[in-house]
Amino acid sequence: MSGESHVEDCPRCGTTLSMECYSDWKPHSMVGGVCHQCGYAYTTRLFIIGKQDLQEERENINYTPIETTEEMKRRMEKYDKDMGVEQ
Ligand SMILES: [Zn+2]
Repeated sequence: MSGESHVEDCPRCGTTLSMECYSDWKPHSMVGGVCHQCGYAYTTRLFIIGKQDLQEERENINYTPIETTEEMKRRMEKYDKDMGVEQ
């Protein structure tokens, strides 16, 4: 693991220092945690947004996409499989 972990109070059940929380910076910023008292948990969700939402996101920052190469496609397929990215 390349990030850090710590314990926090659970905001759901109120138990002191019952939540084990972690963050990581590889392959990008990710967080997660679980309360060992009540089971409350959170995690970074990996998924691909729809084409319309992607277009709106691009328009918000005036992003012009570059051509998607075959190498990029192979990389994305491998990444999605390895990381369990929701499609
Ligand atoms: Zn809890």
